[in-house]
Amino acid sequence: DLAPVRRALLSVSDKTGLVELGQALAERGIELLSTGGSAKTLRNAGLEVRDVADVTSFPEMMDGRVKTLHPMVHGGLLALRDNDDHVKAMTDHGIGAIDLLVVNLYPFEETVAKGADYDTCIENIDIGGPAMIRAAAKNHAFVNVVVDVEDYPALLDELAANDGQTSYAFRQKLALTAYARTGAYDAAVSTWMAKALEETAPRRRAVAGQLAQTLRYGENPHQSAAFYTDGSARPGVATATQHQGKELSYNNINDTDAAFELVSEFATAEGPACAIIKHANPCGVAQGATLQEAYSKAFDCDRTSAFGGIIALNQPLDGPTAEEISKIFTEVVIAPGADEDAKAIFAAKKNLRLLTTEGLANPAEAALTLKQVSGGFLVQDKDNGRLTQDDLKVVTKRAPTEAEMADMLFAWKVAKHVKSNAIVYVKDGATVGVGAGQMSRVDSCRIAARKAQDMADALGLSAPLTQGSVVASDAFFPFADGLLTAAEAGATAVIHPGGSMRDDEVIAAADDAGLAMVLTGMRHFRH
Ligand code: 5GP
Repeated sequence: DLAPVRRALLSVSDKTGLVELGQALAERGIELLSTGGSAKTLRNAGLEVRDVADVTSFPEMMDGRVKTLHPMVHGGLLALRDNDDHVKAMTDHGIGAIDLLVVNLYPFEETVAKGADYDTCIENIDIGGPAMIRAAAKNHAFVNVVVDVEDYPALLDELAANDGQTSYAFRQKLALTAYARTGAYDAAVSTWMAKALEETAPRRRAVAGQLAQTLRYGENPHQSAAFYTDGSARPGVATATQHQGKELSYNNINDTDAAFELVSEFATAEGPACAIIKHANPCGVAQGATLQEAYSKAFDCDRTSAFGGIIALNQPLDGPTAEEISKIFTEVVIAPGADEDAKAIFAAKKNLRLLTTEGLANPAEAALTLKQVSGGFLVQDKDNGRLTQDDLKVVTKRAPTEAEMADMLFAWKVAKHVKSNAIVYVKDGATVGVGAGQMSRVDSCRIAARKAQDMADALGLSAPLTQGSVVASDAFFPFADGLLTAAEAGATAVIHPGGSMRDDEVIAAADDAGLAMVLTGMRHFRH
């Protein structure tokens, strides 16, 4: 897999190390081709160089915009040396093979960094350089491409080690570096351009991904927005089919995603489940014997908030459930299918959007999530952490009952999808109080309990639904106060990660209150 280097094309903006490299190559008997400025530098050092203009029989023109964009150059870079047709084409047209390309690009990034004006930046977009780099990298079966001054020594070492030849593995690595460079270069251009155009055309800002929909506006009417997809086929809001209703809005898409990801925690085979989302947080999640029951139980968690909500189901929507949902205003329903009855019932609700997917999302799937911060973005693995009963450690004197255990595992799944600090009360496979997004855990405990009391008042119940419930906390209780609030609300069992400095204090308080407590050893922060 060794390939000889007989002819090199050197075309560099940064002339650092150029003369030394040229000398070393010439000493190996390698013929040097070069463009204007680079050729001049080499010649001044006393080296023999052939101008690319001489090879192409065309002068460099248009301020250097067109120098190497010519079949004599690209044919020499791209021809497969072991392909008879390619070799014949080279012979017919007098094209000489180019075995080594050394290019560094017009300093576009530096020009932008200096605060140059628009036209100067445009003029510093290299065209012929990237074209040659990509050509040479594609043909790495035979051709070497060096795009970084720092790689000159490695090239010379490789030639020395192989008697003027290079190995396939070496050329592969060079090609990889080369494509990384042209990719980064074009990204720098699009980033700069997006910024330059921002005031006039924010909607067209370049974003990685496929533009799926230009949105009427963003989170608020004064923000412009668009929806981009990443090309993945996974079931979810991006790949769902919309059967009726207006176009989804920015907030609809965000909330529908939250709803569908949450309900997907409950596999279809585990029985019907429903999640109702408002402002990206669940205001009711439940399992039921039927889908209609799951919906009704979820609705009963917080009927006030459920108005205008987004509903996700883990089974195809059926008529009875559609009938029940139709009783109040709902923005979006998403489910892995919908039967004809359900579609007919929804048809009368012009503003309701019905989306169907091909199955559920896979909550255990490995994926990345992105979060933007000023000047950059954070990337992390998606939170695909899941637990079974075997992962839990009982730390109180009293062990949870079977029913408590089932509800705790349910509550834990929901807590993962609630903004921190998350507190979730659950009873009989349904949330009965959700505290979300508070800056202190004890406040989330109180809010969830108070909402449960409000619901009890509205439903005319003698006691809040939190009586005899279990409670999940997305992170450990730093103090006993949150735990005691939950106990006062009537919770009898607690699931949380543990790991606080005051775990002992919290466990003792749980024992005093007669609670059962299990530790997950896993946290589900969601910010
Ligand atoms: P030199 O200083 O040798 O005249 O120019 C070297 C620079 O020109 C390198 O950065 C190289 O990438 C770039 N270059 C080579 N061929 C072309 C071309 O055809 N068009 C443009 N715009 N740049 C080129």
